[in-house]
Amino acid sequence: MGDSAIIEQQIEQEKDKLVEMARAIHKNPEVGGQEFFALDLITKYLANQGFKVWRGIGGLKTAFMASFGEEGFHIGFCSEYDALPEIGHGCGHNLVGIAGVAAGVALAKSLGDMPGRVSIIGTPNEEDEGAKVELVRTGVFDDVDAAMMFHPGCSTCFYVESLACRDYNLTFHGRSVHASTEPWEGRNALEGVIQTFNGINALRQHLKDDVRIHGVISEGGLAPNVIPNRAAADFIIRARDSSYLNEVVEKVVACARGAATATGTTLEVTESGYPYDAMVSNRVMADLFQESLKESGYNLESSYDEGLGSMDMGKVSRVTPSIQPLVAITEQWVPGHTHEFSALCDTDEVYEIMLTVG
Ligand SMILES: [Zn+2]
Ligand SMILES: [Zn+2]
Repeated sequence: MGDSAIIEQQIEQEKDKLVEMARAIHKNPEVGGQEFFALDLITKYLANQGFKVWRGIGGLKTAFMASFGEEGFHIGFCSEYDALPEIGHGCGHNLVGIAGVAAGVALAKSLGDMPGRVSIIGTPNEEDEGAKVELVRTGVFDDVDAAMMFHPGCSTCFYVESLACRDYNLTFHGRSVHASTEPWEGRNALEGVIQTFNGINALRQHLKDDVRIHGVISEGGLAPNVIPNRAAADFIIRARDSSYLNEVVEKVVACARGAATATGTTLEVTESGYPYDAMVSNRVMADLFQESLKESGYNLESSYDEGLGSMDMGKVSRVTPSIQPLVAITEQWVPGHTHEFSALCDTDEVYEIMLTVG
């Protein structure tokens, strides 16, 4: 029996339990940092499979490491299990999580006398903060020789690239007064935010094509008859190259400073979340994954071409050879981060793809 046939057989044996776990995580969506149900479910299962389990690694309560074997080459399968507020598993992390578990368990059981260590690394809170960045910083990936994870989508791509990314909160402080009786005494924090958006929109013409800047007004004042003394915007800024991204961040902050000067308000700049690096996919691993997926009979044809996002796996790819292939789970385009995509991630056909990916 060939290596991939042995792996397939191991997954086949665990199939019902694996699908049951993916369904249960889908049914109990938990946002980043609160994934205690998923943590409990997965780590108990892995402990029963003979894995040594450490919870709360890297100082993150819902992160874990589960390892089988000790000596030799160390391969890490990343498992994500966080959901989106109100939408649930609109990013399909129930599939990401259990495909990683399936791959790890099947490989561990196939080791026989061969030396090697197989780990499943529970990497929570991908949507909000990107816990892998913190797990890299705290050394969790230091002795991992290769790391991998898959992500479901509407297209398939083996050699995945991503954008480096940084998150900012811009808060303006002004002075509240009655908006009709003495507006000349006021300093309008909301105007600071609006002029920041205008400045950034004027800046776009002078930025490279791969840059993405997108923001929302997170605080915009309390009542129209009160000049807002506080207003804020959250921005995400992305680019292929981290050093160019830093230049763009400076320009965005300069827009906000200019807006503060123009409106007589003061500005507070806070970086939120961890900065993401762009993904560097390992060519050898990506090619092997592609070959194996083809051998396994996966044959979904999708012509949809997804644009680039950002992923915390980018940071992992800077410290150990890594891949995060994108695998289509539908032939039609279904927008990500929606209830529709969430529903798709809880179907028999898609659970079958999850096992195949494993
Ligand atoms: Zn997502
Ligand atoms: Zn995702």
